Amino acid sequence: MTTQIEYARANTITAQMEAVARSEGLSAEYIRAKVALGEIVIANNPARPHQKVVGIGTGLRTKVNASIGASSDICDLAAEIRKAQIAEEEGADTLMELSAGGDLDRIRREVLANTSLPVGNVPLYQAFKETSRKYKNPAKLDPEFLFELIERQLADGLSFMAIHCGINQYTIERLRKQGFRYGGLASKGGTFMVAWMDATGKENPLYAQFDRVCGLMKKHDAILSLGNGIRAGAIHDSHDRAQMAEMIINCELAELGREMGCQMMVEGPGHVPLDEIAANIQLEKRMSGNAPYYVLGPLPLDTGAGYDHIVAAIGAANSARHGADLICYITPAEHLALPNEDDVREGVRATRLAVRIGDVAKYPDRREGEKQAAMARRDMRWDDLQRHLLFPDTAQAIRAARAPEASDTCTMCGDFCAMKKGMEVFHADIAGDKIAPITPTS
Ligand code: SF4
Repeated sequence: MTTQIEYARANTITAQMEAVARSEGLSAEYIRAKVALGEIVIANNPARPHQKVVGIGTGLRTKVNASIGASSDICDLAAEIRKAQIAEEEGADTLMELSAGGDLDRIRREVLANTSLPVGNVPLYQAFKETSRKYKNPAKLDPEFLFELIERQLADGLSFMAIHCGINQYTIERLRKQGFRYGGLASKGGTFMVAWMDATGKENPLYAQFDRVCGLMKKHDAILSLGNGIRAGAIHDSHDRAQMAEMIINCELAELGREMGCQMMVEGPGHVPLDEIAANIQLEKRMSGNAPYYVLGPLPLDTGAGYDHIVAAIGAANSARHGADLICYITPAEHLALPNEDDVREGVRATRLAVRIGDVAKYPDRREGEKQAAMARRDMRWDDLQRHLLFPDTAQAIRAARAPEASDTCTMCGDFCAMKKGMEVFHADIAGDKIAPITPTS
């Protein structure tokens, strides 16, 4: 299949590029040029016509990913479908189906049938799960089975895959030489691949046969998201030598994959203290030639369990502000349990807030919505205000539950309302969007 990057390099603007341009309010030529450079990737799937087309990368709104999936402890297909639907209702842009328990083919297909979001996954989960089931030993994984599985999963309609190509023997050597870690290993796929390489003494087949991985992705024009298998699971491990070794390799592979005509994205951490987030993004952008960067949070604190969606939102606002392009949500259940439906809702909402904060800083010319909301609040136009809010249902419910005596104020200050008094004093021109001339009454 001709991929979006190949079309773009041939100066062809595809229907997918036009769709991204419309949704972002940018020109189709801008999208084409950035796709040609590999700075924008487009999650699409011609075999899945009901799917939304989503652009990720330079100059675009920062996107939110929600991850769902059953585990070996909690496996409820209906709940996973409902979680996928909630993620979409709440405004996630992409979905990752990360089941590691139950009938994995069935769950993936049912989720794909019940959402119009682009769906991605991590093929190593099923590869190691099925190998363990068959041989009682994940180290028996046959690389040929892994490649067949990737092909089978892509044929079901996935638009992107997180594949751990950047872990090789050199990366593992860095891990050994630095004396392991405070936070251990955090990536499931990455850790099982490290264990496989340790047990077999062989090179990671996803690295050794990288061109084969790209060939499979190109067949479906799927985005190859280079997994962050050695990401830090604690802020004290952030940017250690092992993580950096994988990052350098992933950035090299991003360039190689682009040259082969494959849509490429790089994945980032993980756990990163706030003061290191900007550097992390700058390193990825510089070393990969501005490949779209997909960041997992990051979490800038290790002691926030129960509120990790807020911890991650602070990291996400910073990473979006410094150039991250797609951010995976974190839910309140992070590090504690499989997320339920409420967790998914809270996770998406927190991350949407974070990327809006990041985008307001990243794109100072895209703040009109904030200005309109501020003026509606100043003028106490409560109905108008709802239209500009990210979550009008919550705002409305809180206001209705504690309704004021005077309908133009709220019960926070009641008749001590600063907004109302300010308007009386300055006779603001509430009809215009210009700041009214200040004309005191006396
Ligand atoms: S009552 Fe207080 S919080 Fe409510 S609108 Fe007036 S100034 Fe704002």
